[in-house]
Amino acid sequence: MFCVECGREGPTVDGQCASCFATRHPLVEPRPHVDVPRCQACGAFLVAGAWIRGDLDRLIPRILEEKVPPRAPFRRADHAHVAHREDDSNLLLTVTASGRHGDVEVSQAFRTRLRLKPSLCDVCAKQRSRYFEGIVQVRAEGRELTPKEIRAVRTFVGARADRARESSRDFVSRTEEIHGGLDFYVSTNAFAKELARDLASTYGGSVTTTSKLFGQRDGREVFRVTSLVRLSAFQVGDVVRHKDRVSEVVKIATFVTLRDLESGEERRFKPRDLKAARRVDAERFEADVGVAADGRAVVRHPESGAERPITSRATVRPGSARVVWTADAAYLSGVRAPSKT
Ligand SMILES: [Zn+2]
Ligand SMILES: [Zn+2]
Repeated sequence: MFCVECGREGPTVDGQCASCFATRHPLVEPRPHVDVPRCQACGAFLVAGAWIRGDLDRLIPRILEEKVPPRAPFRRADHAHVAHREDDSNLLLTVTASGRHGDVEVSQAFRTRLRLKPSLCDVCAKQRSRYFEGIVQVRAEGRELTPKEIRAVRTFVGARADRARESSRDFVSRTEEIHGGLDFYVSTNAFAKELARDLASTYGGSVTTTSKLFGQRDGREVFRVTSLVRLSAFQVGDVVRHKDRVSEVVKIATFVTLRDLESGEERRFKPRDLKAARRVDAERFEADVGVAADGRAVVRHPESGAERPITSRATVRPGSARVVWTADAAYLSGVRAPSKT
């Protein structure tokens, strides 16, 4: 076959040799600038209509595909690039685009400046507008949350929100410390329910959910769901009286684990089954255990010097032991954590 343009012999496409075809049909139309919106809050880039968080260099081929598309008759152009960072928002790209039409392969080199434009992604914009659908309230039964619990719950919710942002674009738009508890305003009711369930099982508590109609959207009724997480009245280390037994709280999760201070037996309770339990004033300290004249193990209070026999049934060896000291008895403690805050 002969090229209709230059007369050279060889393979042709639409009657032209590869070099004439490439001259008459540029693969792409280079642009001096390629502008990419970048979210100032989270750093996401708007690529082909979607906000994507990730390494810019790996997104550049997709950006070029969108912004410097192939011209007919080419259907596809692959872009290889070398980026030179000029400053924080400008990259000079040296690009080689390659494509194929029929038997003809063409490549075209060009340079373009990628300019990052300050913007706000849809999720960050919603978050900034303090948008919320659901509310998660965290309270403790009959007491205020301790500063330690407040820190822990805030950290827990923060980590969940980071993960949810990536997976489901959910977020926490506002956190308020209020009435000895915490309120989280979150993007969706589903996320509120999920958070509440996870908080209750991690910190030991029950969840009650109420929903209130607050308007219509696209002809549908929209509800605002409030999930109340009620944490246990007790904390690990607390000494409680429950059904005439004196126990210490050794673990709080979905269930509350009580260790009977006399028998040493552990039992698990649903938080709501401990409503009648009462906290008992107690101290917990390391003390020397000695043996009294009658052979019973005794312990001495480190400050008052008072001596008492140990009520716990376990075999007690002389030496140092962790002791729970109430108004009228002394027990061996099974709680390893330092005394409560
Ligand atoms: Zn030719
Ligand atoms: Zn953003």
